[in-house]
Amino acid sequence: MKLILLGAPGAGKGTVAKLLTAIDGSVQISTGDILRAAVKDGTALGKEAEAYMKAGDLVPDSLIMGIMGERLLEDDCKNGFLLDGFPRTIPQAEQLKELLAKLNIKLDMAVEIDVAREVILDRLTTRRTCADCGAIYNVKSNPPKEEGKCDKCGGPVVQRDDETEEAISNRLDVYNEKTAPLVNFYKNEGMLLSVNATSSDAVINAIQEKLAS
Ligand code: ADP
Repeated sequence: MKLILLGAPGAGKGTVAKLLTAIDGSVQISTGDILRAAVKDGTALGKEAEAYMKAGDLVPDSLIMGIMGERLLEDDCKNGFLLDGFPRTIPQAEQLKELLAKLNIKLDMAVEIDVAREVILDRLTTRRTCADCGAIYNVKSNPPKEEGKCDKCGGPVVQRDDETEEAISNRLDVYNEKTAPLVNFYKNEGMLLSVNATSSDAVINAIQEKLAS
């Protein structure tokens, strides 16, 4: 499958993407993960992105398009891909459309995961992430077996820099202003599936039903 996953921070895009990769071998492409890895490795890209990310602001469209223009050419995309956290602005969506047309790739749909703001706020303040492999935990509903240590790779499980209350509130404002308009963009393209669900399984089921129809 070739999908775009849309939704506020904390809506569950990453979790849904990980579950979908297990179904058919499509690869998850998370611009947030790519950027965090670049910051951690101290690359030029990471240095440029770091301050924006820490404040919960978007990094410039040109940087993101540079990353994605290369990423979509990689071999593993041939079996399908799940775009998680990209596109994030109307210009990114427009440029993605051009890029895909040029590469002769057709998307199945854009999936909007719609979750209430209270649920999102609660999830983000209690979310923890493995600094090494990106596995996601939650201090209340899904803590690692050993506190602070990733079940999968043993790496440190930490609160992200941009998961302070101030940065979270900014990320949600940025989402409403810059990213929420993409829902209409993809509706107009005739490729939107909107799912109002708080369980990842319900989201997966809705996607599979739509793909089969
Ligand atoms: P979230 O949990 O907010 O969905 P991500 O891991 O997707 O977080 O992204 C973390 C940060 O990386 C964002 O706040 C932003 O600074 C940057 N980022 C990720 N993807 C994009 C994008 N497509 N365009 C601009 N900035 C991005």
